[in-house]
Amino acid sequence: MAYSHQGDGTEPLASYAPAAALDTLKRYFGYSSFRPGQERMVSAILSGCDALGVMPTGAGKSICYQVPALMLPGLTLVVSPLVSLMSDQVRALKAAGARPSYLNSTLTPAQQNTVLKRASEGWYQIMYVAPERLADPRFLAFARAAAGPGGIGIPLVAVDEAHCVSQWGQDFRPSYLEIASFVAALPQRPVLAAFTATATERVRADISTMLGLRAPQTVTTGFDRPNLYFEVQELGDKAKAAWVRDYVRSHAQESGIVYCATRKKVDELAQDLMHELAPLGVRVGHYHAGLSIEERRVNQEGFITDTIPVIVATNAFGMGIDKPNVRYVIHLNAPESIEAYYQEAGRAGRDGDPAGCVLLWNGADFNLRRRLIDRDPGDVELDEGQREQAKRNRFRLLSQMEGYCRTTDCLRAYILRYFGEDGRDREGAGPAPAVLRKGEGAVQASAVARKEEAGPASAAARKAEGASLPPATAHGCGNCSNCLTPFEADDVTEAARAIMRFVSRHPGRFGKALIADVLHGANTERIRSLRLDGDPEYGKLAELPIARARDTVEQLIGSGYLTVSMGQYPVICMGDLGLAALNSSEEFTFSIKRRKRGRAGSERARRAVDLLRDEAALDSKPRVGDDAALFERLRALRRELAEWRDVPPYIVCSDKTLRGLCRQRPATREDLLEVSGIGERKADEFGEAFLKAISEFEDERRG
Ligand code: ADP
Ligand code: ZN
Repeated sequence: MAYSHQGDGTEPLASYAPAAALDTLKRYFGYSSFRPGQERMVSAILSGCDALGVMPTGAGKSICYQVPALMLPGLTLVVSPLVSLMSDQVRALKAAGARPSYLNSTLTPAQQNTVLKRASEGWYQIMYVAPERLADPRFLAFARAAAGPGGIGIPLVAVDEAHCVSQWGQDFRPSYLEIASFVAALPQRPVLAAFTATATERVRADISTMLGLRAPQTVTTGFDRPNLYFEVQELGDKAKAAWVRDYVRSHAQESGIVYCATRKKVDELAQDLMHELAPLGVRVGHYHAGLSIEERRVNQEGFITDTIPVIVATNAFGMGIDKPNVRYVIHLNAPESIEAYYQEAGRAGRDGDPAGCVLLWNGADFNLRRRLIDRDPGDVELDEGQREQAKRNRFRLLSQMEGYCRTTDCLRAYILRYFGEDGRDREGAGPAPAVLRKGEGAVQASAVARKEEAGPASAAARKAEGASLPPATAHGCGNCSNCLTPFEADDVTEAARAIMRFVSRHPGRFGKALIADVLHGANTERIRSLRLDGDPEYGKLAELPIARARDTVEQLIGSGYLTVSMGQYPVICMGDLGLAALNSSEEFTFSIKRRKRGRAGSERARRAVDLLRDEAALDSKPRVGDDAALFERLRALRRELAEWRDVPPYIVCSDKTLRGLCRQRPATREDLLEVSGIGERKADEFGEAFLKAISEFEDERRG
């Protein structure tokens, strides 16, 4: 067997029996197969190996420890920082027929006593705890007894959001550092399994050492979320609001989040959308840290239970929201980093169905962010030098975000490169095509038609390479606005030369806008006072529209010919490529990509999303014809069942399961168990109601 054991003489807790694991998956969760990363994690854990799973949101991390927890004798502990998620997870597991529990500060001391008592009697298979709990002497005593001779046994400790242990991550939680000593204090060492959705190399290494993982089996499934459609639009402030109104109205049946940079914007836009959607009977909620706790709770609860489908919010909203059927996430302003963006946008489409992530931006967003960074006094615990370093780091992250907004190449590829992936299949991946160096995100250089790439040898090489790549990376992902927008190339070699000559004469002196103005020949007070109207390049690009001149500067930066300094007022310098181009005798050409005119933008994007959605609804079985009507009816039934049990509708079942019911039209319990997402318990509990609704529906149609 490929999996090594812990090497400290302890026996594996169980051996991995694929059939038994599959059976557990089917029986409790109603799924007939594991996703690739899941199987490797489950088998490692069941073979007694520590494991580290780096999997994006929606990949299905919970299954990786829940299935072993349901198979192993004793109590599995799950350490999770998100107290608000615990009750949700527990509800979902209960609905699946498992025996779960949680222990956190939302329970009264008496309730906590009961939970601990029952746990030591072996009632539960799985217990969620917050990391702070591990240092609680009472809990420690419980755990030591449980893991000791004659105890119920603690075969597995699963650590969710494991990046919280690292000071290099965004969400450092000191209490995560206690986990290792907690585990060390147990008389018998359990298997340790750690999970995270975001981890750079450095954070990954931290997780391993700080948690004390022993030779962990590491499973990385990559960051790509193929079901997410990415779109970027540069719009003025008014146009942004109009775009959002339009989008939300035409997706009124769906659930979505609109993120804004400030509370004020949240309030304005929410007002706006409420007016717009009230006539359609659609409620809009808002959420930010300035609202009362009660108001926030009501809005969040409404969103989760689908009574408020749209929520307008600052980035305060989302932590601990595990709603699987969010169909779109719109950003009204550019966030401060790609990490933040991907985390927020990634709340769309956790169920694996197509979902849209749209970023609306303009230059003012970045000016605002730069101002905020500049003014922020920084962490008081850091010294002057460290604060300066932290600030530079934030400016760097922001400029990578700006690169995302401006790139004309595949948006998905840009994000994946940012996280240090080249977008290829991990198994057997060769060297990266490396247009972007890891973590240095400038815009990709393929806006430049470079001579050497046209040679027959490299074309053949690329083709061969393309054959081993998934289609997504060979020719763009086909599911982002840049891959779906027709571009035309525009040769701006002369303009590029003039701009670079100007910058090389005044390196690090001027910003982008001023440079474009000088080249364009603008007659401004500023230009006159700097005597730039006497510069040899002044007015050289008078024929070129100013927007094109700016675009050329922008894309020269993006492809490394020019560089831009960090800070509130960034200035332009020569990049290595630019110096080489100016000094070499070899021919240099530069062209930029422009969006073709016409209504490419939102209409087309919307169609793409809708189309994809239709495709997802189709899979193997033929459609029965009136699925949509039945879907609505089953959805209403689901809400009723959920209300009755006081749980959110998705705990009863997912949209995907509803669609499966529509398509497969089960007539018996056996049929029902064939539907993805329906396990034994759900068949027992809801099966009859669903079967009845389906047969009534078919009778009506027939009669
Ligand atoms: P994560 O914690 O990684 O963000 P979740 O554990 O919440 O992801 O799972 C995301 C969604 O995928 C859930 O709706 C879950 O039920 C579903 N899912 C997980 N594993 C499978 C599987 N093997 N087959 C089908 N659906 C699955
Ligand atoms: Zn793409």
